Amino acid sequence: MCSRESVQNGPDAVGDEHIQKAGIVSVGNELLNGRTVDTNAAYIAGKLRAISLPVVSVHTVCDEVDAIERALALAASEADVVVVTGGLGPTDDDLTRQAFAGFLGGGLVLREELLEGIRQFFDRRGMEMPGRNSIQACIPQGAQVLDNERGTAPGIQARKGGKWLFALPGVPDEMKHMLDTKVLPQLQPLTAGQTLVVRRLKCFGAGESRIAEMMGDAMRRGRNPLVNCTVHTGVITLEIVATAERPEDAMRMADAQEQSLRAVLGDLVYGTDDQTLAEVVGEQLARSGRTLAVAESCTGGLLAKLITDIPGSSRYFTHGWVTYSNEAKRHDLDVPVKTMEEFGAVSEHVAEAMARGARRKAGTDYALSITGIAGPGGGTEQKPVGLVYIAVDSADGTNTSRHVFSFDRSAVRLRAAQTALNILRRRLDLTGPAPM
Ligand code: ATP
Ligand code: MG
Repeated sequence: MCSRESVQNGPDAVGDEHIQKAGIVSVGNELLNGRTVDTNAAYIAGKLRAISLPVVSVHTVCDEVDAIERALALAASEADVVVVTGGLGPTDDDLTRQAFAGFLGGGLVLREELLEGIRQFFDRRGMEMPGRNSIQACIPQGAQVLDNERGTAPGIQARKGGKWLFALPGVPDEMKHMLDTKVLPQLQPLTAGQTLVVRRLKCFGAGESRIAEMMGDAMRRGRNPLVNCTVHTGVITLEIVATAERPEDAMRMADAQEQSLRAVLGDLVYGTDDQTLAEVVGEQLARSGRTLAVAESCTGGLLAKLITDIPGSSRYFTHGWVTYSNEAKRHDLDVPVKTMEEFGAVSEHVAEAMARGARRKAGTDYALSITGIAGPGGGTEQKPVGLVYIAVDSADGTNTSRHVFSFDRSAVRLRAAQTALNILRRRLDLTGPAPM
């Protein structure tokens, strides 16, 4: 049970005696040599978190009895529940059951009914059971069997020193089925007195360190709610994890944390959970009854793609031009040749002319334009690779901004398209609904 004090200490604090926690042990040489990504651990962690059981460690070990046993002991010292996957097959490199037996302090016992079940599994497929499959009918002394309805490797479950121990097959499909149907129903009552509420705030427009600075000590470890930060293609995700005995308390704590983060981060927060910038901008446009066209150069249609990835985008998106050459910019968008000659295609003036031309031609409320140097070649001292101009045009006027994005061609292009969406999002925030 979770006491009032433990609520103050935070869900992921390993030293917290009152919160029920889980550890995962992933077994297999293939996980260590880069051949297989450990998707099992991710699946298990997600499922355990969904029943308010936070995972505090994942140990990945090779197919060696001693290594597996050591990992089991370590995981059991850190957590109340340990879930092992892999190493239950019939071959010499499948050693989880031996390690499990060692950890429990006994040997393996052959279970006749399991042997019969494995034989029948092969019979149904018109095959004879290979002799070595009989090892799968051996279970550590004192352990119980978890039926495998999808394969031949039975799972194992045991208790030691109050800890819950499970060994599941490595084959993802078998592991998932066994976890969902045999393990989670047993663990649910364990977390009846603790609730994890998880919120995600999505931010764009500032780097990780700037956001961390603005947040003060909100990300300090051991807090409850705990705030975690991850970055992916310029989008910063702040995850709030609030833990309490009662769901309503966890909810209230998460709400308060969300409000205080929103207060300091302002419009850097563009959405929640899995929302994308294109989704949020789409909602703003649809809600206000406004329309949008885009004119792109270096992003080659990526901005239009992000916008049209959203179902229902035809409600607000009308046109997208990819004007890669000067001639296309002149012909399609009426960008004056003189402007391109005087300032170059990658310039504030050309971005502005592209946005204005696009809005006029499409007859939309808004137009976005992008022109830049995505690289890897084509940069100069004055105009380096990554230089991008973005313009937004509406009845309120045209705004053009200069950006220098780093990394490779695809990163520059993606960042440019996302930044254009973010610029429009901020402008739409200031705009009321369309006049009737
Ligand atoms: P089992 O316990 O079911 O016999 P195993 O570890 O003995 O599993 P392997 O032959 O090693 O069997 O693995 C079976 C398949 O499952 C392989 O394709 C392997 O890459 C995959 N696999 C094993 N562990 C994981 C994991 N943690 N994440 C994703 N895939 C995994
Ligand atoms: Mg294996």
